[in-house]
Amino acid sequence: MSCFSDLVADHVRALGVETPAEPRRGDSPAIPRRVKLAANESPYGPSPKAMAAMRKVLEKSHLYPDNDALQLRRKLAELHSLEADEVIVSAGLTGLLTVIARTLLQPGRSAITSECSFLAYGISTRAVGARLVETPRRKDGYDLDAILSAIDPSTRIVFLANPNNPTGTLIESSAVERFLQRVAPHVVVVIDEAYYDYARHFAAARGVEYSSPDYVRRWQNLVLLRTFSKAHGLAGLRIGYGLGRAELIAYFARLQDTFSVSGVAEAAAVAALEDQEHVRFAVENNAMEAERLAHEISRLGCRVVPTWANFLCCDLGQDAAAVARELRAEGVVVLPLGEWGAPTSLRITVGTAEQNRIFLGAFRKILR
Ligand SMILES: *Cc1c(COP(=O)(O)O)cnc(C)c1O
Repeated sequence: MSCFSDLVADHVRALGVETPAEPRRGDSPAIPRRVKLAANESPYGPSPKAMAAMRKVLEKSHLYPDNDALQLRRKLAELHSLEADEVIVSAGLTGLLTVIARTLLQPGRSAITSECSFLAYGISTRAVGARLVETPRRKDGYDLDAILSAIDPSTRIVFLANPNNPTGTLIESSAVERFLQRVAPHVVVVIDEAYYDYARHFAAARGVEYSSPDYVRRWQNLVLLRTFSKAHGLAGLRIGYGLGRAELIAYFARLQDTFSVSGVAEAAAVAALEDQEHVRFAVENNAMEAERLAHEISRLGCRVVPTWANFLCCDLGQDAAAVARELRAEGVVVLPLGEWGAPTSLRITVGTAEQNRIFLGAFRKILR
């Protein structure tokens, strides 16, 4: 036990201390590799327009940014037919999840999500001393009926990742709407659409209704989250946003760290929104490569969950952490899902054709 365990708050001590043996998240020079397919980043980089916009504002880096990110909020409001006070911009969605949890939760309250979903929901919930309830998954994804049954007087948040990370499953908009109609008014539903652009593309191709610009206008107890970290290729800049009713958004804004979103990130996001061509390139190539990659992985005898995002969840039927270690020795980094309760599954980000070729070469060699 460290000498600080008596000093930290009770609910923080309950979280324990994490000292990773090897850096897992983010980029680290400690990992020599040829291909990283472990964090669902876009392999196509930022938009050239975003790059140009960033260069232009770099020379203003001695000044604090606009704490209200008004330029970006106005643009997002227009895009979603909302008012600017119904939009909050944050340093990535991970930062916003923390703010949402701090706003709505406290010891004695709880949040609900599905098992095998985004780990940050649990981290932000437990960081404020609240409890996370995880309902069993159904067909690799969310069981909305189980979530409705799990709601009790202590519940304040339901986190829905749509598509889900790490399984890549989708909840169609009709099911989301039926859920929203039935959910109790003391619960805020946080719909995390980090993979929106990929999912919208797949949904159009497969004739499925996904998401709706009307969610925020029709439902009061709803917060819709989107990020620039995925299809827009800006994960390293840390910028995302939430949409919801003005009063709730104003509470979130009060708890946000001052100046947490940099001017460089805001300028990049504004320009990225104007470069739909770049997003289209990313999602079209992703769809093509995802299909090819899924086909090849299935041929090796693995079960691949049909994806609606930029990654594949595959059940190998054997210890996935061991396979991930062998892949790493070949210079390929993917994510084994033991921590998610799926020790035989891997999550593989869809890369460029060249990256996927390198991955498949190593994967075939190891599985044989
Ligand atoms: C990647 C991802 C995010 C994005 O997080 P940022 O902090 O914006 O980079 C949010 N939710 C889910 C489910 C994700 O997979």
